[in-house]
Amino acid sequence: MKHELPVPAHVVDLISELQEAGYESYIVGGAIRDLLLGRQPKDFDISTSATPEEVRAVFGRRSARIIGKRFRLVHVTWCGELFEVSTFRQAPAHSGANAKKDLPENLILSDNSFGTAEEDAWRRDFTVNALFFDPVKNELIDFTGQGVEDIRNRVVRAIGNPGLRFEEDPVRMLRALKLIGQYDFTMDSATENALFSHLELIRVASPSRLALELEKILASSYGDKHFQAFHDYGLLPYFLPELNRAWDTPHGDYALNLLNERNCRVREGLYRNSVSLAMATLALPFVEKECGAQPGNLWKPGPDSTAAIRGVLDTLFKPQTMMNRMTLSAERVLILQPLFGDAQSKEKLVEAKSYPHSRELLLIRTAVAEEDTAEIERQWPPASARRRSGSKRERSDNGGDGPKRRRRGRRSGRGHEKNRGE
Ligand code: ATP
Ligand code: MG
Repeated sequence: MKHELPVPAHVVDLISELQEAGYESYIVGGAIRDLLLGRQPKDFDISTSATPEEVRAVFGRRSARIIGKRFRLVHVTWCGELFEVSTFRQAPAHSGANAKKDLPENLILSDNSFGTAEEDAWRRDFTVNALFFDPVKNELIDFTGQGVEDIRNRVVRAIGNPGLRFEEDPVRMLRALKLIGQYDFTMDSATENALFSHLELIRVASPSRLALELEKILASSYGDKHFQAFHDYGLLPYFLPELNRAWDTPHGDYALNLLNERNCRVREGLYRNSVSLAMATLALPFVEKECGAQPGNLWKPGPDSTAAIRGVLDTLFKPQTMMNRMTLSAERVLILQPLFGDAQSKEKLVEAKSYPHSRELLLIRTAVAEEDTAEIERQWPPASARRRSGSKRERSDNGGDGPKRRRRGRRSGRGHEKNRGE
């Protein structure tokens, strides 16, 4: 059907480039869902009839890099932005090979059989995520026939047999609940029943994908809402058991309030979206407790504080394994926190690499305590002039940095070794 959607010109150009090379190409998934909901998409995923090698030939090796094993796709840099371009897939066959590896028989281990646009729509997870849009012809295609209506009614509905879809990929349960938490969707009853009876399966999902999901949740500005939905539907004990245990305790409530405030501030554009800051924010009440302070009160730094902070971070996010870089950075944000109460540390504190994140954590705490943030802003400058003019490293765990903005080769050779990870 004909439809107008506000797609940025450079994204239309990218699609045109593929179409002019002879390949059917669309914007798919979350971007179309978000545009139809009147929201700004986080990114634009592209689906095309071109194989990964053909996509690379269209954009050239310097701009197009083939990545992924379980799901091969191409990262295309276009107008300075990174796009994921994937080839139309058909539903993977259940080969029976899983039995040999002692894995659930329907679990998908690889999803690389190419197909048509329509087949590609049917192998997607939910009807609201399966809409295709051609921004050159302004054509919206709803292959499942249910996506537009489900967006209108704000319903999460699995495509096909919901139980089978969750068995194929238990991460889809997390994805369904993220939609519930973030967009206030409801779940269609068949999907909901299947989810309730498959919750435990989340344990067989690939640990690296679950860790990536957690990173995406913390990188979004809706993490508290996602966790709330996980809790409401009983998934949280399997995903973050420690957070689940603390739910409905003063520390758990405080942690969620802090994360909510952090997210509001990100959405209002007051601070950037950092995964390590989100980790530190959520962990703060548990660190206070571990270090012997009351909720909302800072601990006195001592020789054991660093080990206590590390212990809290490791336990809170278990069994998910966050990247060490993120954990180290969160740890440093927390280590600095009590120093804000010590006027003598000010000069050193302002120069520290984690100062901006730690200052933001102080502002979050202050806002949650319903105290005056303006006073803190006056007292503590956003960053020292030296740091402001300084490196890009400070942004290196910038949360919007999920997979899309991560660059290779960043890790070494950039000098300032002594500041690493601070
Ligand atoms: P977000 O706004 O968080 O990016 P999204 O729906 O676009 O949401 P992506 O992870 O970017 O999420 O995935 C893009 C699209 O790929 C989805 O909209 C969906 O159509 C499809 N997809 C992603 N993960 C799965 C999955 N596990 N099973 C089936 N389809 C999936
Ligand atoms: Mg997306």
